[in-house]
Amino acid sequence: MNPKEAKQRIDKLRKEIEQHNYQYYVLSKPSVSDFEYDILINDLQELEKRFPEYADSSSPTQRVGNDINIDFVQVEHKYPMLSLGNTYSREEVTDFDARIKKIIGNDYEYVCELKYDGAAISLTYKNGKLLRAVTRGDGTKGDDVTANVKTIKSIPLQLSGNNYPEEFEIRGEIFIPVEKFNEMNKQRIAEGEQPFANPRNAASGTLKIQNSAIVARRPLDCFLYFLLGERLSYDSHYENLVKAKEWGLKIPEHIKKCKNIDEVFDFIEYWDKERKNLPYDIDGVVLKINSYNQQEELGFTAKSPRWAIAYKFKAEQAITRLLSIDYQVGRTGAITPVANLEPVLLAGTTVKRASLHNADQIELLDIRIGDMVHVEKGGEIIPKIVGVDKSQRYTDSEPLNYIKNCPECNTPLIKNEGEAKHYCPNEYGCPPQIKGKIEHFISRKAMNIAGAEATIDLLFNNGLIKTISDLYHLKKDDLLKLERFAEKSANNLIKSIEESKKVPFHRVLFAIGIRYVGETTAKALASHFKSLDALKNATFEELTQVEEIGSAIAESIISFFKNDNNIKVIEELKKTGLQTTVTKNEVTSNKLSGNSFVVSGTFTFHSREEIKSLIEENGGKNLSSVSSSTNFIIAGENMGPAKLEKAKKLNIPIISENEFLEMIK
Ligand code: NAD
Repeated sequence: MNPKEAKQRIDKLRKEIEQHNYQYYVLSKPSVSDFEYDILINDLQELEKRFPEYADSSSPTQRVGNDINIDFVQVEHKYPMLSLGNTYSREEVTDFDARIKKIIGNDYEYVCELKYDGAAISLTYKNGKLLRAVTRGDGTKGDDVTANVKTIKSIPLQLSGNNYPEEFEIRGEIFIPVEKFNEMNKQRIAEGEQPFANPRNAASGTLKIQNSAIVARRPLDCFLYFLLGERLSYDSHYENLVKAKEWGLKIPEHIKKCKNIDEVFDFIEYWDKERKNLPYDIDGVVLKINSYNQQEELGFTAKSPRWAIAYKFKAEQAITRLLSIDYQVGRTGAITPVANLEPVLLAGTTVKRASLHNADQIELLDIRIGDMVHVEKGGEIIPKIVGVDKSQRYTDSEPLNYIKNCPECNTPLIKNEGEAKHYCPNEYGCPPQIKGKIEHFISRKAMNIAGAEATIDLLFNNGLIKTISDLYHLKKDDLLKLERFAEKSANNLIKSIEESKKVPFHRVLFAIGIRYVGETTAKALASHFKSLDALKNATFEELTQVEEIGSAIAESIISFFKNDNNIKVIEELKKTGLQTTVTKNEVTSNKLSGNSFVVSGTFTFHSREEIKSLIEENGGKNLSSVSSSTNFIIAGENMGPAKLEKAKKLNIPIISENEFLEMIK
C-alpha cells in the first residue's frame, strides 16, 4: 500500500468508526458486532503505526468513545475516565505482562475481574451520601444521570457504618441481568414495542432516558469495581474494594488476586467456559495491577491506563451452509431478509435461521446462496451472519440479487434515503401490512379485542375485513358461516368488539397505527390535543411543541392525516361510536406506569389527594405504606418519621413535590 492509498483507507476507517461510535455510545443501537468493530480499530491502529505521518490526536484510536448527550447537564470528571486497552489474543496479554515487568520489575500482583457488558458509571459519595452519578462521556466530562441512577436498588443512597472517607469516587458498570432482560423484552413485544437487541444496549439506552420514572421500571443493576480518592483506606485496588463492601457497596462477586500471568490465564480459561452460567453478560476479563503506586508509575495513554488490559472473549460462532433467503414483510412494510441455514448447534441451541438485516448487509458480506457462513450469537435474540468463508464457495455461485418487488403483493419496493431497509409502499393493498394493522388494532394494549392472529387471517382471507373499521360491521351470522366459529366464539368476538367502543381515546390513537406513535406518544398527544379532530388539524409547529414529539413523529402524523384511505377509516370508526375525545379522569399519560408511590406530609402546590390523583392520571400506583415494592416516596413537610426511617433503610428515593411535578411535566 502506498502512502496515498494508506491515507485514503485511514480516512475511510476513521469515518466509519466514528459512525459506529455514534450508533453505539449515543444511540445504543450498534449496527456491527463488537468483534467487527474491534477489527476495524485494529486495522486503523496498524495503518497509523505504519504511516506515522498521518497520526492524528483526534483519531478514534486515540480518544475515548463519546457518549455525551446534550439533553443532560455535563459534569467534569475529577480523574479522567478512560477506556481499556483490549485484545482477543493471549500473546498480547503475555506482551502486556512483559511490558509491566520491564517497567516495575517482578514484584507486582494482578487483580483479575470479569468485564461486565454494560455502561460505565462514576459515583461520587460525600459524607456517606450519593452525591452524583456521571457517565464516562468523552473521558473528561460526562452526563449527569444522578436522578436515573438513584432508581437502581443496588446502589445505596446512604452508605452503612461511618468509617468511609469523607468524599470518594467509585466506578462501575450498570447492566441488566439476562433473565430480567428477556422478561422485559417479552413484555415489550406483547405491548407492541420494539424489543432491545441485547442487555448492553438496553442498559446504556435506559441510563440516558430523560424520565427517571421510566428508568425505575427497568431492571438495572450495578457492580462497582474501582475506588478513587485522596483518603482511601489502603493503597491497593483489591483491598479498597473489599473495604467498600463493608459500606454497603455492591462490588464484583468474582474477583481474584493473581501472582503471575499463569494464574491470570487460569482465571481467563475458567470464565471463558463458565460465563454462560452467569446471570449477566460479560465480554471478557480485566486484569489490573493491584498497587496504586505501581499504577501511577505505569501511567496512562490518552485513551487507556497502561496498568490494565481487557482480554475479550469472542462471541460464540458456528459455521454452516446458507440454503436460501426468505424475505419477510412486516406490519410497516419493512422487508427483512432471513437466512435459512443448514441446522447447526450454537451456544446450546440448534440454529436454523439467522438475521441478515438488510440489502446493505448482504452486499457488505458478499453473501451467496450455498456459501458456508459464520453465524454468531452474542447477546442478541436472533443469531446473525457475520461472515462468509469464501474459500469454500461453489465455483458456479452467483452474486445475490436483492428482491425488487414485494414478495407478497409484487409492488416495486422503495428505499428512503438514510434508511437501511427496503419498504413495500402498498400500505393498503399488501396483505401482511393490512393484517398487521388489524392485529395491532385488536392487540391488548390497543383495543383489546379478543382474537388471535389466526382469527384475523380467517376473517381477512374470507373477505370479511379489509380495514380496521370493517371489524365493527361484522355480523354473528357471517362468522357462523366460517368453519372455525361456533355460537360461543362468535358471540365472544362480537361482544369484545362492542366493548372496545369504551376503550379510552389515547388507546384508540395508539391502535390506529400511525407510524412512530407508540403507547407513550399516543398518551402525550391525547392529553395535549384532547380529540382526534384537533390532532388531525394540528400543524407541524403545534405538534412539535408537545414534549416528546420530534420532527419525524410530527411529519408522520401529518402524512397520516393527509391520506384519504386513513380519513375514510377514521370517519367510519367515528360513526361506530369509538372514543375519539378525552373523557374526564382518564389515564392520560404513562409517565409513571409501573411505579408505586407513597405520598407523605403536606405540600405547597397541591393537596395530598391531588398528588395521588396526579399519580393515577399518569399511570402510577399509590401505596399506603412503605415496602420494598415502593419506587418513590413523595415527601412534603412533616413527613411521618416511621415512613422516613423505613424509606432510608430500604434505600427508596425520597423526592420533593417539585421533583415529582418535574417527572410528570
Ligand atoms: P471497552 O468496553 O473495551 O473497555 C472499557 C470499559 O470496560 C470501561 O469503560 C467499563 O465500562 C468496562 N468494564 C467492564 N468491566 C470492567 C471492570 N471490571 N473493570 C474496568 N472496566 C470494566 O472499551 P470502551 O471504550 O467502552 O468501548 C470500546 C469497545 O466497545 C470496543 O472494543 C467494542 O467492543 C465496543 N464498541 C462497539 C461498537 C459497535 O459498533 N459494535 C462501537 C463502539 C464500541
